Amino acid sequence: MTASADLKDFASAAHLAARVHAGQMRKGGDVPYVNHVLEVAALVAEADGTRDEVIAAVLHDTVEDTDLTLEAIGAAYGPQVARLVEGLTDDPAWADLPRPERKRRQAAHLPGAPGGVRRIKIADQCSNLHDIVRLPQAWSPDGAAQYIEGATLVVDACRGVSGRLEEAFDTAVAAAMQKTGEM
Ligand code: ZN
Repeated sequence: MTASADLKDFASAAHLAARVHAGQMRKGGDVPYVNHVLEVAALVAEADGTRDEVIAAVLHDTVEDTDLTLEAIGAAYGPQVARLVEGLTDDPAWADLPRPERKRRQAAHLPGAPGGVRRIKIADQCSNLHDIVRLPQAWSPDGAAQYIEGATLVVDACRGVSGRLEEAFDTAVAAAMQKTGEM
């Protein structure tokens, strides 16, 4: 079997994400950050995402959280991937805002965003809620409840782009709420 061009690009993007996120950990401290972006890419791929969406999912947090630029992403994987990552990158001016306010601002701009941005955003929020279930000891009940509320606000602004991802999110909310109730 010979790897297709898309598969080569996916492997290259996954390697790039592992390098630029190296040393970053998920909340709780034991899980490398790259696990999150690979989970988001897997969710998007399982929901029949396009080549550009799956690669953008792998790179969705790089511009916000690492030194990688949209220009470099566009040069390596094409302008459409760069546009998707741009749509998933918060305005740098929001960096110091409290999380609930950042979520409100994301939710305000998402209904007008391209379908690909909204699909990746739903997968992103699914992965974040899975973290509460996988590592409840990293969360306080209030923190988890506030996080679920913010994720729901964001996903409600994205609905109408993938029944499968929206269903996966609803399942993730129920599991995270049950876990929060047990804290
Ligand atoms: Zn993310």
